[in-house]
Amino acid sequence: MPAMLIRIVTAASVCLFLGCQASSEPSSPAPAESAALERMKEEFRRGIYEVTEGVHQAVGFGIANSILIEGDDCVFIVDVMGAMETAAEVRAEFAKVTDKPIGALIYTHNHADHVMGGLAFVPDGQVDVYAHETTNDHINRFANVLRPILRTRSARMFGSYLPRGGLDAMENVGLGPFVETLDPDMTLGLIRPNKTFADELETEICGVQVRLVHAPGETDDQLFVWLEERGVLLPGDNIYKAFPNLYSIRGTPYRDVRDWVRSLDRMRALRPTYLVPSHTRAISGQDEIQETLTAYRDAIQFVHDQTVQGMNRGLRPDELVDAVKLPPHLAGHPYLQEYYGKVAWSVRGIFSGYLGWFDGDAARLEPVSPDDRAAGMAALAGGVEGLQHAAEHALKEEKYAWAAELASHWIQLAPASRAAKQVKADALRALGREQVNANARNYYLSQALELEGMIEIRDQTKPENALSFVSTVPIGRFIAAMPANLLYEKSADAELVVGFRFPDVDEAYGIEIRRGVAEFNDAFPENPDLTIRADSHVWRELVLGLRSPIKTFAAGDVKFSGSALDLVGFLRMFRKP
Ligand SMILES: [Zn+2]
Repeated sequence: MPAMLIRIVTAASVCLFLGCQASSEPSSPAPAESAALERMKEEFRRGIYEVTEGVHQAVGFGIANSILIEGDDCVFIVDVMGAMETAAEVRAEFAKVTDKPIGALIYTHNHADHVMGGLAFVPDGQVDVYAHETTNDHINRFANVLRPILRTRSARMFGSYLPRGGLDAMENVGLGPFVETLDPDMTLGLIRPNKTFADELETEICGVQVRLVHAPGETDDQLFVWLEERGVLLPGDNIYKAFPNLYSIRGTPYRDVRDWVRSLDRMRALRPTYLVPSHTRAISGQDEIQETLTAYRDAIQFVHDQTVQGMNRGLRPDELVDAVKLPPHLAGHPYLQEYYGKVAWSVRGIFSGYLGWFDGDAARLEPVSPDDRAAGMAALAGGVEGLQHAAEHALKEEKYAWAAELASHWIQLAPASRAAKQVKADALRALGREQVNANARNYYLSQALELEGMIEIRDQTKPENALSFVSTVPIGRFIAAMPANLLYEKSADAELVVGFRFPDVDEAYGIEIRRGVAEFNDAFPENPDLTIRADSHVWRELVLGLRSPIKTFAAGDVKFSGSALDLVGFLRMFRKP
């Protein structure tokens, strides 16, 4: 856990300086919510579960499961946890089941919680690793330029900074007890896929007939594993015991929900006897599985089709979320409870996936700025004080979403006001406590603590813990990521051509800076002003901050031709990764 300072500030302390009378402290979670959270704990109870002979599922060691399949003289593992530490725990438990060696790994998709623990299972990394042909490239994107914002939003959504006990604790992450990949003390141990395929792969692993089928859904590179002889289907993340995350609030590109439905239909056609997902427990029995897969695909298609119909009637996202509700037989289904995904978020995701950000109302084409809107709201309310009273009143009336919105305008006008932030924090906390959806609950509760100044979300990944992952990312990827981090204020007048040579991998790249824009080139430039030459691992370690630039240059580990001033100036033009 990141070091954190937790002090729960209740609404009562706001009243100290606002002089309000009745406490506006949000109520405790309703019995229904706390009962639901208790049930989820049971779902993630840590253990090794035998699904059928030779198939064991490790649940509750991290957010994702790892699945052991026994063959004749070896075993293979489907999904390998999100870090070396949790993977080592699972490996020790699997070793109690069988002492057969590990013959192969299979990754159902690229997400970190499924792929980062490989080296704990196979320490020398020498093993066949099956995955879809695009999985490697998706993994490279973990090192992408959006990392800062994705990390912040993920930390909120997974409750990484929330206390582990008490009323406002991180209860769970919807699909498992906690996420290990955001924990700065955990070590990444990635083994790259080396047996990849496009649409389908039939093979024999440890004497077991295995069919891998590309099944885009939760991710574009998703696959399912079909063990026909045993009637065992491993669907990856295309089904788990919660409404699917058709859109993730940490921020994801559009997930094609019609592909997701098609992939579920390919699974239904197989009529499996055992369904062993990569999150939540397995199900047994053809009829029950068929009914569950059908309800799941129907729910996704229903939300898609009704959203599209509403869009065609001209409804905007805020109206669509009221219009699209699951029918009762699906809304009550145990696999469609909104513990992880939400119908409303899915509706918004489908709208923006098809039509983008513009909701169709000309008033929203070029809306007033946040400052002007806040000032306008205050004017309507009779001044900032009126806005304050309206926000506090809404909180008291338990209109929490409205209270949060009004408080946001108040904060816009008075960014230093602790009272304003406290009203918003109280409103968000109350919204969080009403949730059975783990992502929403964690996000609300985390942002409340941020507003109170109790936590500050930063990247606390220890570079040495990330090194084994980073060393598998192609060096060209690092150079290609530089342009998006060019600082305009440092490069507005610059014109400079820089060439990179990495002799250990025999690769060369170029970056040309033209007054605020850096162009990446996949080849060494013709007449560079500056040439930088280094082994690729040296450059990676510099980027990670594991080496002092001064010592590295002094030791001659990075050589350059051109002026030292140009070199220093060039490096300063980029935001530090
Ligand atoms: Zn997952």
